[in-house]
Amino acid sequence: MLIERVWAANRGRNFHYLIACSETGEALAVDPLNADACLQRAQQLGWRIRQIFNTHEHADHTGGNAAMVAATGAPVLAHAAAAERIGGVTHGLKHDDLVRIGRSVTLRCLDTPGHTRAHLCLYAPARSERPPALFSGDTLFNAGAGNCLHGGDPLLLYDTFAGCLSQLPLATRVFPGHEYLLRNLDFTLDREPSNAAARNMLKRCTDLAAEAMPVTTLADERQFNVFFRLDSPELIAELRRVRSDWGVAPAPREVFLALRELRNRW
Ligand SMILES: [Zn+2]
Ligand SMILES: [Zn+2]
Repeated sequence: MLIERVWAANRGRNFHYLIACSETGEALAVDPLNADACLQRAQQLGWRIRQIFNTHEHADHTGGNAAMVAATGAPVLAHAAAAERIGGVTHGLKHDDLVRIGRSVTLRCLDTPGHTRAHLCLYAPARSERPPALFSGDTLFNAGAGNCLHGGDPLLLYDTFAGCLSQLPLATRVFPGHEYLLRNLDFTLDREPSNAAARNMLKRCTDLAAEAMPVTTLADERQFNVFFRLDSPELIAELRRVRSDWGVAPAPREVFLALRELRNRW
């Protein structure tokens, strides 16, 4: 499995991904908003885009479909419950469905509601030397979580983090739909000023261009993504300044909801 990250160079800071079979050069494009950038990169690499996949229905993820279909004739895959809103979807998918690319790649769909009610992540399990990979759309960002302001539900997002994302192997590489790392690390450090992993990552990445940002793993995220750190004493103590009704050990769900709410205004 070959993975190519394509930077959209737009204000939304979108990342697109091309996932290809190393044997056949057939590729799937994830959320190819900037279709031209994806097509150009595929051409440089000698890959042929044979499928389009949308993680969810927002226009900054689906807006390149028409151009990509016109250029490649590729089918469009997306969550069955988002298909109508996206339009032009040829294959409606659900949890645990498999997406095959060429001869050598099989990805599994994970139903991950929260940012929107119909959101899919693509998961590639570990294979021999290759660690697992998660194409997480707007559910999980580097050091952050998607907002729930446009058709989402923070309770569902909590369930997705606790019931799905937290169950994946720590070695899983995270490939999100947007580049928000530095801003999210600032949010972490505002909650947990003594978080050394967040501070080190911020230092390492401050001067990097967006397209050069490192790929994190779920092990990294556990260290500097507050949405995975719901039992951190420092985090809870900081949140209690605004949530004076909390005891010393609020339920993880309460901490998650408070963080999501705070991040909307931060
Ligand atoms: Zn979105
Ligand atoms: Zn987005």
